[in-house]
Amino acid sequence: MGRCYGDAALAENVYSTQAFNQVLHFDKDNGTIHCQSGATLDEILELIVPHGWFLPVTPGTKFISVGGAIAADIHGKNHHKEGSFSNHLLSFTLFTSSNETVTCTKQENPNIFWATCGGMGLTGIILEATFQLKKIESVFIRQEVVAANNLKELMQAFEDSSDWTYTVSWLDCFAKGEAMGKGVLFRGEHALTNELPAKKQKLEVPRKPKLNIPFFLPVFTLNRLSIKAFNFLYYRMQISKPNPHFVDYDSFFYPLDSIHNWNRMYGRKGFTQYQLLLPKEISHQGISEVLQIVSKSNYGSFLAVLKLFGKQEQKFLGFPSEGYTLTLDFPINKKVLAMLDELDKIVIKYSGKVYLAKDVRVDKDTFKAMYGNLDKFQEVLKTINPEEKFSSLLSKRVGLAH
Ligand SMILES: Cc1cc2nc3c(=O)[nH]c(=O)nc-3n(C[C@H](O)[C@H](O)[C@H](O)COP(=O)(O)OP(=O)(O)OC[C@H]3O[C@@H](n4cnc5c(N)ncnc54)[C@H](O)[C@@H]3O)c2cc1C
Repeated sequence: MGRCYGDAALAENVYSTQAFNQVLHFDKDNGTIHCQSGATLDEILELIVPHGWFLPVTPGTKFISVGGAIAADIHGKNHHKEGSFSNHLLSFTLFTSSNETVTCTKQENPNIFWATCGGMGLTGIILEATFQLKKIESVFIRQEVVAANNLKELMQAFEDSSDWTYTVSWLDCFAKGEAMGKGVLFRGEHALTNELPAKKQKLEVPRKPKLNIPFFLPVFTLNRLSIKAFNFLYYRMQISKPNPHFVDYDSFFYPLDSIHNWNRMYGRKGFTQYQLLLPKEISHQGISEVLQIVSKSNYGSFLAVLKLFGKQEQKFLGFPSEGYTLTLDFPINKKVLAMLDELDKIVIKYSGKVYLAKDVRVDKDTFKAMYGNLDKFQEVLKTINPEEKFSSLLSKRVGLAH
């Protein structure tokens, strides 16, 4: 679906799976789904929600394919409790460079299984997949908002909310000094029917009118002043909400999906997203250093999201492991790119990494310094994609192939 932010899905010849989107079997009793890899999360939700099932892990947009979910091993707001997509993936078939179809599970061809999860499409084309869904009683999320005056309080709010299934926070990246990292934490649970009035108990997929940004906004629209004003209003608006309140899952998980062409906000030159992950024990120090640089710049991001990941061993290229992940959007220009090079240095200093599904700029050396398991991934590629038949602009840029 081309929803990764960088060049992972770009190449001289691109295989599209968009027309390869059939659901082959939905077991309504056990909540498993078997589909072709081009099926989107949106299409799957339409089918499963009325039967009381939901996606086990979902990113901030539902317009991605199951193939893309596996290839990036996506994470959601529940990583600290429920892990990434691969945790719920039962099996898939892979079309390899030797024209064979290989079945992979955690037991059968485990190295190919784990190298494909997070392997950004380089092991072959995922054809079909089966994964486990989770039971829900309603389409609503019981949400609470916790205000935090600085980064320390925000991280403490994550710790205090560790029993909640979904946690995510927004922070004001221009807040400085004592207030650096000021923000709000959102925590949520799938609402039970007995918590809701009768009219909200139906398992109906939410449908709302969409906004549209009809043209590219001029670059100056997003400046320090406008972002500061947005941050001020957004913070006030969020902390004034009653605790708890109920929002439908679209509003909770996919706020950007309700705005057509939201990317036009950043102007014609576009934008980049920088998502970093730091080990938990040094996250406060590292993220403070990152925020210091960003808050001094003129290029703060109104989308500044902090999430906590739980434990996850990574054998190959998968992104999530225990720690805090910070995501920032910036309009593209030379000064921003220079600033991101500075941020890379902090990330490497603290043994962190950036997320390949969002990246468009790290070079080979930076990538190698961030992904210690690269050699092991390349060993698997030697067996499954020896002639580099599958490649992408990303794989060539960061040197993913052997
Ligand atoms: C608004 C927004 C919010 C997001 N939020 C999150 C988030 O919270 N968490 C998160 O983890 N990600 C998030 N993402 C990123 C997104 O989930 C991933 O980039 C995902 O991989 C996109 O899926 P896609 O179908 O668009 O794949 P594409 O962008 O088309 O491709 C991504 C990669 O997957 C590979 N691929 C796709 N299909 C196959 C296949 N059938 N076989 C083999 N390889 C394949 C491609 O080669 C490429 O390397 C977000 C993206 C957007 C736009």
